[in-house]
Amino acid sequence: MSPRPLVFADSLSTFDEADFVIVGVPFDRTSSFRGGSRDAPQEIRKASHNFEPYMYELDIDLRDSAIHDMGDLDEMGSTEDMIMEMSFVSEKISGQKKFPLIIGGEHSISPPAASGSVSRFKGDIGIIVVDAHLDFRREYMGDGNNHACASRRFSDMVGPQRVFPIGTRSMCREEMDDAEEGKLRWLSASEANRLSPSEAVSRAVSSMGVEKLYLSIDVDGMDPAFAPGTGTPEPFGLSAVWVKELIRACGPFLAGFDIVEVCPPVDNGNTSALAARLIRETIASVEINGRPGGKI
Ligand code: MN
Ligand code: MN
Repeated sequence: MSPRPLVFADSLSTFDEADFVIVGVPFDRTSSFRGGSRDAPQEIRKASHNFEPYMYELDIDLRDSAIHDMGDLDEMGSTEDMIMEMSFVSEKISGQKKFPLIIGGEHSISPPAASGSVSRFKGDIGIIVVDAHLDFRREYMGDGNNHACASRRFSDMVGPQRVFPIGTRSMCREEMDDAEEGKLRWLSASEANRLSPSEAVSRAVSSMGVEKLYLSIDVDGMDPAFAPGTGTPEPFGLSAVWVKELIRACGPFLAGFDIVEVCPPVDNGNTSALAARLIRETIASVEINGRPGGKI
């Protein structure tokens, strides 16, 4: 008999019963600097068991939440295979009005991870991307689905005015020119650090003119002091507490979530723990606002 696979802590529900569905995507094929994020879903699941189920700030016990962990997507051949499989699973989760929590893998998994939420709330959903990098390249190393193009692919899905990067502090000149031309608005790390997280969310929501949000967190959006275990660390980022409060402020609007670019081979364990905790904060922040994805 094979051992029971490790699931995210407090995932006690079946798929049919669940309000929240967790999926791991062990994919890091396009990583430019350090690979290894394929190991993140399992490390983050392991780290999740170190936390109490009771989220005392919100008075929410995660054992009362209906959470299901689907496990990982199957071993993927090409990037195109991953995109097809991820989109299929994302549509299945959102199609049944459940809240997706997708664990990468690298950032190239996020546009297909968001596709179900985007179809569900078509025309009324914007995407907040926490990231050190603008990720607005048309292509990188000959590949439009490279992880350096995540926000560009989001903007193909919902339009550049409905994508809102936060924590930005790294881009090439062509990317910035393209972003300005496409009227992409973003909040640099310096600007974000002068605002409260709820001011940042208000700005994002009014700039995008939407009622629903999908949140994609590339952990390098946080400062390497808080999230050292990532493929392309970039100094002068957001604090872990700021991002926790950002999640809290997004709560009333949230329709879906992913967290990507944790790289266990270069982590001391803290980045996986932080990612696990941010997933738990997301569940609690959605729960406190009622039914996942909003009342329909
Ligand atoms: Mn990214
Ligand atoms: Mn990044």
